[in-house]
Amino acid sequence: MDYLWAGWRSAFVTQGAPAVDGCVLCAIGDGADGADDLVVARRARAFCVLNLYPYTSGHLMVVPRRHGSDLGALSHEELGEMWELVREGMAALESAYHPQGINLGLNLGRASGAGIVEHLHVHVVPRWVGDANFMVTAAQTRVLPEALGDTRDRLRRAWPASS
Ligand SMILES: [Zn+2]
Repeated sequence: MDYLWAGWRSAFVTQGAPAVDGCVLCAIGDGADGADDLVVARRARAFCVLNLYPYTSGHLMVVPRRHGSDLGALSHEELGEMWELVREGMAALESAYHPQGINLGLNLGRASGAGIVEHLHVHVVPRWVGDANFMVTAAQTRVLPEALGDTRDRLRRAWPASS
């Protein structure tokens, strides 16, 4: 996979990936040093973070704090906070990016294509007609028009007040 433009990569290489033992999503949820740079919203039981390898600009992941791969094991409170963050993330994306559509999804289990199987998370992916899909299909190339830090800042500013 080639990237036509990936300004965030230079910073990532310069700073180095955060040193994490074990689950990277747990480390982000715990606010480990350097690991929460891309978090856009936090609650007691769940948080929302930018995907380090976004499908499109604004690609979010909503993650329960508690480690696990079983949706059925989550409490009502955990599920509630997750879906509130999904709703707020969608509102922030609408406000900041005006997408023409949004994909919501969970990839559960190794065969689903999940990148991090052991700690479930909900993808929130803004979409535009004719967006990166074509390039990925045709050329194994993604177009990333914005650095991740800029995306994070835009979404933090656009995040709605919690109800
Ligand atoms: Zn975890």
